[in-house]
Amino acid sequence: MTQSNVAFLPFVKPEIDEETIQGVADVLRSGWITTGPQNQAFEAALSEFCGGRPVRTFNSGTATLEIGLRIAGVGPGDEVITTPASWVATSNVIYEVGATPVFADIDPVTRNIDLDRLEAAITPRTKALIPVYLAGMPVDMDRLYAIARQHGLRVIEDAAQAFGATWNGKRIGAIGDLVSFSFHPNKNLTSIEGGALVLNNEAEAVLAQKYRLQGITRTGFDGMDCDVLGGKYNLTDVAARVGLGQLKHIERFTEQRRKLARAYFAGFEGGTARKLGVGLPVADFANSNWHMFQITLPLEKLTISRAAFMEQLKERGIGSGVHYPAIHLFTLYRERGFKAGMFPHAERFGATTVTLPLFTQMTNDDVARVCRAVNEICEQYAKG
Ligand SMILES: *Cc1c(COP(=O)(O)O)cnc(C)c1O
Repeated sequence: MTQSNVAFLPFVKPEIDEETIQGVADVLRSGWITTGPQNQAFEAALSEFCGGRPVRTFNSGTATLEIGLRIAGVGPGDEVITTPASWVATSNVIYEVGATPVFADIDPVTRNIDLDRLEAAITPRTKALIPVYLAGMPVDMDRLYAIARQHGLRVIEDAAQAFGATWNGKRIGAIGDLVSFSFHPNKNLTSIEGGALVLNNEAEAVLAQKYRLQGITRTGFDGMDCDVLGGKYNLTDVAARVGLGQLKHIERFTEQRRKLARAYFAGFEGGTARKLGVGLPVADFANSNWHMFQITLPLEKLTISRAAFMEQLKERGIGSGVHYPAIHLFTLYRERGFKAGMFPHAERFGATTVTLPLFTQMTNDDVARVCRAVNEICEQYAKG
């Protein structure tokens, strides 16, 4: 295939409709552009989406997760168990609140934290759990919460990638303890940057508002107090308007992603890539929102590296990504005592995974083109 006659296919691209663009222009002209009525409407709509539970927005998923930890009372001396196969934000926020991340390796099939290993990692200092739903695929929520209840642990779900995903017919966010979403442009729903925390009650929602804006409470025109140490994490009305415009389409977005994921499974069936041992995600069409379609490369059977493989995709007009290198191998984490070999499944996944294009405006033909390219590269660079 020659590259010249086909448009470059990025691995991700947000879909923003004209009404949202017009809505943003209206906000900009309105005279109130930071946190205000659009944010209130966005929070109300998110709360409705999450079964009526209280929801507060923040200016990033990272801030959302960190404030979730603060609301759960996590601080110095506490341990928080999480997965090493995630975006580094997941464990950086544990250090941010002065606590210690404890990793439990992943199940190489689901690529999510292995709940047996999670349970084995619990100590008297464990205060909370941060499960991550990688690529929008939830962990076994029944088992997770049974473990949390049994050991008296808080759960801060890193559902950054799981907006629109479900567990046994119930939406992620409508169930569970504290649930953190991200609205970064790569996520299934975007507000450019942003995030939202689903809370258990109004008291937690008030605390979330304080942590979000300098710990301030106001009563009347001239009454102001600051009684907790808060930061500056509020979402602008411009961002909230983008989020509101997105929310209208979330069911269609999720359906389209599921359709494209099915096309990937069909496209790979019986091809060279599968014969060579290219790994596919779990074919879950009940719970996952198909945030990403990630393959793993059988590098021992190829004559090229992952980077060269991705370069070959690029030469064929196809974008790809890596989500994620194992967190504990980053310098900051090595300096704090983590070593290669500690979490072999996450290390292997992090070293071999490639995220293929998946976004709502893609077509089944685009997917077929990606599958053909992957098969072609595997054929061209197979050993022996
Ligand atoms: C995107 C993401 C975050 C952080 O969200 P931001 O909005 O980028 O701060 C945290 N955890 C996971 C798993 C993510 O994918």
